[in-house]
Amino acid sequence: MKLHNTERNYSEKLKDIETLARGLPAVSIMEICGTHTMAIGRSGLRRVLPDNIRLISGPGCPVCVTHDREIDNYLELAKDKRVIIATFGDLLRVPGSKGTLNAARSQGAGVVVVYSTLEALRLASNNPDHEVVFLGVGFETTAPTAALSIIQAKSQGLGNYSVYSMHKLVPPALEALLCDGSVKLDGFICPGHVSTIIGTSPYTFVAEQYKKPCVITGFEIHDILDGLYLLLLQMRQNKAKIDIQYIRGVKPDGNPIARKTMDTVFRTGDVLWRGFGVIPNSGLHIREEYRDYDASVKFGLAMDHHYINEKEAICSCGDILKGLKTPNECDLFKGLCTPLNPFGPCMVSTEGACAAYYRYEA
Ligand code: SF4
Repeated sequence: MKLHNTERNYSEKLKDIETLARGLPAVSIMEICGTHTMAIGRSGLRRVLPDNIRLISGPGCPVCVTHDREIDNYLELAKDKRVIIATFGDLLRVPGSKGTLNAARSQGAGVVVVYSTLEALRLASNNPDHEVVFLGVGFETTAPTAALSIIQAKSQGLGNYSVYSMHKLVPPALEALLCDGSVKLDGFICPGHVSTIIGTSPYTFVAEQYKKPCVITGFEIHDILDGLYLLLLQMRQNKAKIDIQYIRGVKPDGNPIARKTMDTVFRTGDVLWRGFGVIPNSGLHIREEYRDYDASVKFGLAMDHHYINEKEAICSCGDILKGLKTPNECDLFKGLCTPLNPFGPCMVSTEGACAAYYRYEA
């Protein structure tokens, strides 16, 4: 098959995959990223793959892995009349144990949806009598812009701006999954946008230590078909390496400038993930030099790593993020939990597996 060839259509690419899959044992491939989950759902790919190829959704939806403890912290912050919360829209409807930001906003809390950290900085500049807190959620893709906003706030003397960093790193989550071993995983479709920043080397342990092939893949269905083809090819050849299918977006060494910006402001530390618990060195904390811009320091937002939310026992998001369950195996799916009335974050987020299954696969 000629790769990166959009002239070959869906069914021709599917045939190439069927040819490769023939003779392979049953294999389970995890698509880590929520954007891949959505694209796969939209295309109906799961239903037409050969029987021995199973796609499992993973922990790559940033809103979904945000822990209830973090959500409760920023909901607490929203009660402070001095505070304006600046957030991406995805977080508005994510339920913590005590409600949502949307509900807090309807009760008068200062919550503003922004589309960039530049807007959040402008909000701080235009509201000198308020404290503007940007909710930093997401993986290596969004962390550099949050870091840059802190550097800019410092250089502009914007003392009323801070970031509540809930940023998480993808490779430690993969390590946690592989180390745990509860789900049989034979290969990974790795996220394209995270990899534009980190490149290939942070995934090397997956191939070398765990002998699992990885392909960094773009988000069009043609990309995903090509990515699957490359994965199956590695399996047929008994290889395990890090391939890049998404060559139009990802360089092997990623984006060193973005990583340097991130490293200037953040250090890694242990953080809580929904479903996983604490994963060592999987989160980004703001460095001491920038503590004036760290909302968790400024407002004393403690993280209790033993935090228990009773809702977590009912909602299966944790198991879904680890690939232990599919959304339709949750008792609440399509009944008590729908996109209009979501019970858990995997149904709220536009990248959530439950939302994808509800729309396309149920
Ligand atoms: S269907 Fe709803 S309750 Fe069940 S796992 Fe998904 S988000 Fe949670």
